Amino acid sequence: MTSTRWICCSTSAILSEAMTKDNIIALPNPHLREKSRRVGVITNEIKKIVEEMKLATIDWDQSRDHEVGVALAAVQIDHLYKIVVVRNDYNDKNNHDFTVFINPEVVKHEGDIAEDYEGCLSVPNIYGKVPRYHKVRIKALNLSGKPFRVTAEGFLARIFQHEIDHTNGLVFIDRIKDKPEAFFRLNDSGKLEPLDFKKDVEKDPILWQ
Ligand SMILES: [Zn+2]
Repeated sequence: MTSTRWICCSTSAILSEAMTKDNIIALPNPHLREKSRRVGVITNEIKKIVEEMKLATIDWDQSRDHEVGVALAAVQIDHLYKIVVVRNDYNDKNNHDFTVFINPEVVKHEGDIAEDYEGCLSVPNIYGKVPRYHKVRIKALNLSGKPFRVTAEGFLARIFQHEIDHTNGLVFIDRIKDKPEAFFRLNDSGKLEPLDFKKDVEKDPILWQ
């Protein structure tokens, strides 16, 4: 296990300087299980939310030793819009550039389904081994409202599936709720350890409603 875990989530800080990791909502907040609405017109409010999403993600991973915030969905800062930001280089924690996806949708799933570890800024301290498609094609709008498409494979495909799930009110643990062996925690040295499903997961009211 590597010592860095990536967690699936150039800023104009003037309007948003109060935005920090504390603005990221976490379970049991019920908004995380609500469907976000599509963005119509890309207003200044939407642009401000995008900047706040970036700032919250950067602030979050500056507080963590072994994790990088890879991407974030707007619901995670409690705005129920279909907006996702993905870090351009999640191997470099000092790179603060993101790509913005407005109204992102998977238009095609391809390839095999593989299991790998995922964490979430809104599900503190739990990791899951989550099945995802190896390859996805995504369509979205950029911040100018122009449609674009991307094809992603491997870990990036996983990120998109995780984030688009957020826009539809799904958290990664909902995908593995019937798999007791799929739950892990990150210990202090950055290693993943299996959780005791019956004791630590199944009946935790924070995780399930
Ligand atoms: Zn997440």
